[in-house]
Amino acid sequence: MNLILMGLPGAGKGTQAEKINEHYDIPHISTGDMFRSAIQEGTELGQKAKHYMDQGDLVPDDVTTGIVKERLGKDDCKNGFLLDGFPRTIAQAEALESLLSGMDQSIDYVLHVDVPKENLEDRLTGRRICPECGTGYHVIYSPPKQKGICDKDGAELIQREDDQAETVTNRLNVNMEQMEPLLDFYNKKGYLMTINGDQEIDHVFQDIQAAIEKP
Ligand SMILES: [Zn+2]
Repeated sequence: MNLILMGLPGAGKGTQAEKINEHYDIPHISTGDMFRSAIQEGTELGQKAKHYMDQGDLVPDDVTTGIVKERLGKDDCKNGFLLDGFPRTIAQAEALESLLSGMDQSIDYVLHVDVPKENLEDRLTGRRICPECGTGYHVIYSPPKQKGICDKDGAELIQREDDQAETVTNRLNVNMEQMEPLLDFYNKKGYLMTINGDQEIDHVFQDIQAAIEKP
């Protein structure tokens, strides 16, 4: 099963992706994670990506498409995959179509986790992450036991640069402008499933299951 997960930053895509990965046993391919590991390793691609991400801007198509192409060729994608964070442009979507058709495959569903933009600012600016172990927290929805401190290793939590208030508004606007044409594109092809993301995590997942398992 070949799936694409879409939604604005903070809509809960990462959480749903984990559930889909566990339940359907297909790899979760997040371009965000791939970028972050490339940045940590200091590769040429990673340095390019960091330059754009630090400013709340999108990474150019050729950089991103190159990463995804390599990833989809790996053995663990034989039974399907879940793409998260890609495609972000019509050009990328078209590149993906030709990439897949060259592999005798196609997209099955595009899942759009839909949360109103106004609800997303609080979600995003409240995020904190442990720089040691990578555990994510939220000051309101999932706070650590001791304020600002990781439960697992006592490290001081940080706020990612692109979760800071001044960057968040820019990020949401950029992402909305990019996402809307893609939703149209996939809707016209009949792949699009709109999921209400403004409800409890388990209910969102139930709606996802209902959407992709219906005959
Ligand atoms: Zn930690």
